Amino acid sequence: MAKEEKIDPFENAKKQIEKAAEKVSLDPNILNQLLMPEKVLVVNFPIRMDDGKIKVFTGFRSQHNKSRGPTKGGIRFHPDVTIEEVMALSTWMTFKNSVIDVPYGGGKGGVICNPKDLSVSELEHVSRGYIRAIAQIIGPKKDIPAPDVYTNQNVMAWMLDEYEKLTGESSPGVITGKPIELGGSLGRDKATSMGAFYVTEKLCELNNKVCKNTSIAIQGFGNAGYYLAKMLYETGHNIIAISDSKGGIYSKKGMDPTEVYHYKNNNGSLKGFPETKNITNNDLLELDVDILIPAALENQITDKNAKNIKAKYVVEVANGPITPKADEILDEKGIMIIPDILSNSGGVVVSYFEWVQNNLGYYWSEEEVMVKLKEKIYKGFDEVHKQSIEHKASFRTAAYILALARLERSMKFRGQA
Ligand code: NAD
Repeated sequence: MAKEEKIDPFENAKKQIEKAAEKVSLDPNILNQLLMPEKVLVVNFPIRMDDGKIKVFTGFRSQHNKSRGPTKGGIRFHPDVTIEEVMALSTWMTFKNSVIDVPYGGGKGGVICNPKDLSVSELEHVSRGYIRAIAQIIGPKKDIPAPDVYTNQNVMAWMLDEYEKLTGESSPGVITGKPIELGGSLGRDKATSMGAFYVTEKLCELNNKVCKNTSIAIQGFGNAGYYLAKMLYETGHNIIAISDSKGGIYSKKGMDPTEVYHYKNNNGSLKGFPETKNITNNDLLELDVDILIPAALENQITDKNAKNIKAKYVVEVANGPITPKADEILDEKGIMIIPDILSNSGGVVVSYFEWVQNNLGYYWSEEEVMVKLKEKIYKGFDEVHKQSIEHKASFRTAAYILALARLERSMKFRGQA
């Protein structure tokens, strides 16, 4: 893994905003407010572990900007979570929600823990304990969490249940990514991948040579990476490499992600999947492929390995996988990047649909959800493309320019500048 020492994702997020702000000579009063979150809560909460001992867990919730609506963004359970990471992720959520035009600001939460080391009952206690600790600042009209790395619909169910016990009210709209039985939306499980798939389709339309016998490498085989690999495979793309936290596998002739998924479930690892070669995560990033899809964590492509990237296109499904310095190197090499705030916005779009359905108390079919999602993603892609032509900017900077214009208008109406 090509991780640099101490890359602060929040500094990266600020650089991305500043680059776009400079291009459009953004009002400095607006810029200054967007360079810091409005509120960051740090909580330390005690949990009784299975052995009877008390362990104190640390968690964060960052609310970056509320000018366009309540804050919204996932909750990450990971041993490496930091306050800076959560602040960065909440900042990216503000820009994602603005670029894809859903009526939210950006939020994000995290708990420092390794779910792989917790029993199911300990995981439930951590999920409930974290929600009790942040309950004052969340709510369907305040801040609406969702799943992120190493959290899933079961975690969302415990969190919803705990919140409703505390408030004494039914509040399905306080959290999204819930099980269908508790008010979740059909299609939410596949939403991030479906959005990234639509983005890839638009990328193909723009550069029609991309999608002839396309070779694809995907880093990260979780909720986002797995479904996307499956959709791309089923539409005729050649998935030549896949990885997870333990490393990856490669086969020039390609592999079926569904078979890989079953193999991983049975063996606990991708390694040894028939007719593939074991590779490292860094090998995967440097493969000569048409499309590289980082779908794991931030800071994977840095100035240390950017010069070795051979992909023609990068579709960022993870948040912040490319540092600003690496971005410049890839730009110089002519590698086109579809930025995270556009590529992975399908998750928050369907989370928004889930929240709308919760507020209405009326539920849509999966088909309706997917039609609406496609419409949103195609529109977002076209709008970013238009900005990139108008401002002679990369897709990333163009996405930030579009988001900034919307944020500037809402902040000005509120008298914030
Ligand atoms: P997940 O927990 O379902 O899966 C994470 C995957 O990344 C796993 O396969 C894990 O093994 C792998 N991984 C973890 N550490 C790794 C490492 N050091 N190197 C390589 N692989 C590693 O998480 P997810 O929901 O699929 O999220 C993946 C990325 O997509 C994150 O950056 C997340 O913020 C982003 N994202 C997710 C959603 C969503 O709705 N799930 C929405 C938007 C963005």
